[in-house]
Amino acid sequence: MKFDFIPSTIYINQQAIYQNVKYFQHLHPQKKIWAVVKADAYGHGVHNVCSPALAAGANGFCVAYVDEALVLRKMGVDTLILVLGASLPESVSVAQKEGISLTAPSFDWLQKSLKYLDPNCLKRLKVHIALDTGMGRIGFTNLAELKRAINFINQHQEIFELEGLFTHFATADENDVYYQHQEAKFKELIAQINEPVKYLHCENSAAGLLEPEDNFTNTIRLGIGMYGVSPLNFSSDLATHLHPVMSLKSKISFIKKIKKGSKISYGATYTAPKDEWIATVSIGYADGWLRRLQGFKVLVDGQYCSNVGRITMDQLMIKVPRHYPIGTPVTFLGKDGTQEITATEIADYAQTIPYEIFTSFSKRLPRVAINLIN
Ligand SMILES: *Cc1c(COP(=O)(O)O)cnc(C)c1O
Repeated sequence: MKFDFIPSTIYINQQAIYQNVKYFQHLHPQKKIWAVVKADAYGHGVHNVCSPALAAGANGFCVAYVDEALVLRKMGVDTLILVLGASLPESVSVAQKEGISLTAPSFDWLQKSLKYLDPNCLKRLKVHIALDTGMGRIGFTNLAELKRAINFINQHQEIFELEGLFTHFATADENDVYYQHQEAKFKELIAQINEPVKYLHCENSAAGLLEPEDNFTNTIRLGIGMYGVSPLNFSSDLATHLHPVMSLKSKISFIKKIKKGSKISYGATYTAPKDEWIATVSIGYADGWLRRLQGFKVLVDGQYCSNVGRITMDQLMIKVPRHYPIGTPVTFLGKDGTQEITATEIADYAQTIPYEIFTSFSKRLPRVAINLIN
């Protein structure tokens, strides 16, 4: 369903995506960059994100499901596409036909997949073996099992192609001892198997900002950094070069002056301390503006204003300094004049991370590309 008469819009700045990818390429001139576009490009819309990422030099994409990879193929994306999760065995023959690379999370998965693959297909299934070096999500943890998997792939070369080996960090955002331990474990496993593969990858955005000079791997899986947000939980000069990509704007839909003592919204939790102007905006928790953002700020006419009272499903109220006409823009994320509200500020207030804020914005909100590339 397409919403034409909704006053809220998510804007996606393609120039910013382009600059962020270029920036990571500048930090890692020797490496390939794969743009992570799972969950409809972290809620930004794959249609808005793929072309600027490609234009900036990304030469592959990562997604979570085979279905997401198929969306990209239908868009005409002909680069490598890697599915990061453990795909259902039922999906492997589609991946084989479409040339979609899959993650092998276990020996068992390889055996099961073999039963579903099509021996008459001219293409082999491209496989990336996941090594669990401490994330505890998917992947091989011991050397014997890993060697068994590689032998199995080599014994079935007519149907499997070992294309990559990778791991994923649990604490790259903190750059702690555990991160270094995982990295060491990855290097150790790779050295022990001594199997040449085309792609060796471990860096996410955080790791990409930590070690610009490490050339042990040859590819970066770039997610949140491409969307212009620092994943690091400490300040870093390297992260200050990122450009925010998403902004969210709505409009005042109703305005009134209320008397001192009047209450606002469900639960009547807000009582006006004096006579004041209250504007209503047609956006709510069903749009992904989380209910726990009650009391958070927005921007009207370049000034911060507070949300008052509970956020409802499709509407919320804000306190404004004076009368504004219906249709006046309200910024929830992004810049208005010299002021800005960042995804990190929203996430901190809601006690979550920018990833969850972005992916919570509902399909009801149109995504519109601006500052177009190509
Ligand atoms: C989501 C994901 C990434 C991207 O992480 P960012 O922190 O967004 O850069 C990389 N690798 C794997 C395996 C992932 O699941």
